[in-house]
Amino acid sequence: MILILLGPPGCGKGTQAQRIQQAYGIVQLSTGDMLRAAVASGSEIGQRAKAIMARGDLVPDEVVIGIIADRIAEADCAKGFILDGFPRTVAQARALDAMLGQKGLTIGHIIEIVVDEQALFDRIEGRAAEAGEARADDNADVLRNRLKTYHDQTAPIIPYYRDKGMLEQIDGMADIDGVTAQIEAILGDSGR
Ligand code: ADP
Repeated sequence: MILILLGPPGCGKGTQAQRIQQAYGIVQLSTGDMLRAAVASGSEIGQRAKAIMARGDLVPDEVVIGIIADRIAEADCAKGFILDGFPRTVAQARALDAMLGQKGLTIGHIIEIVVDEQALFDRIEGRAAEAGEARADDNADVLRNRLKTYHDQTAPIIPYYRDKGMLEQIDGMADIDGVTAQIEAILGDSGR
């Protein structure tokens, strides 16, 4: 099963993706985690991505599309995967359609975690405080920029998928277990 989780920074995509990974045994692919690993390793991609991520801007489409194309070709993705943080632009969504089409794969579910913006802001600020310096992209100015980036560049993928009749929305303001329950209700036993 291929699952896409959508929603703004701080909506809980990563937390939920980890839970679904455990419950369904399908691997979580977080482009944010992959890019942070690239930055930490000092690879060429990491060097390109570092300043972009610190500002809260998006890494160029061809970079993340390349990362995802390589990753989904690996053996542990054969049973399916959860995309967390990808696609983040309409160009990435189109590229994903093309790469899955070539492999004869289809997306099982696209779930948008719908949240209240102010609550989000508070939640991410709390997360930044907890993490200390661990995530340099989580201070308030950068967060504002990340939310703006989301609205300008990522939100258009919502109508892109809605127009294809593929978008399912859930209430992201429920507690963590409540959000998981809504996702599991959509997924049912598929791929479990
Ligand atoms: P969060 O989970 O807080 O929403 P992520 O960990 O997914 O954030 O992403 C952190 C940063 O990594 C983003 O702000 C962006 O700079 C970069 N990034 C992650 N995924 C993508 C993507 N699909 N396209 C472009 N940039 C990305």
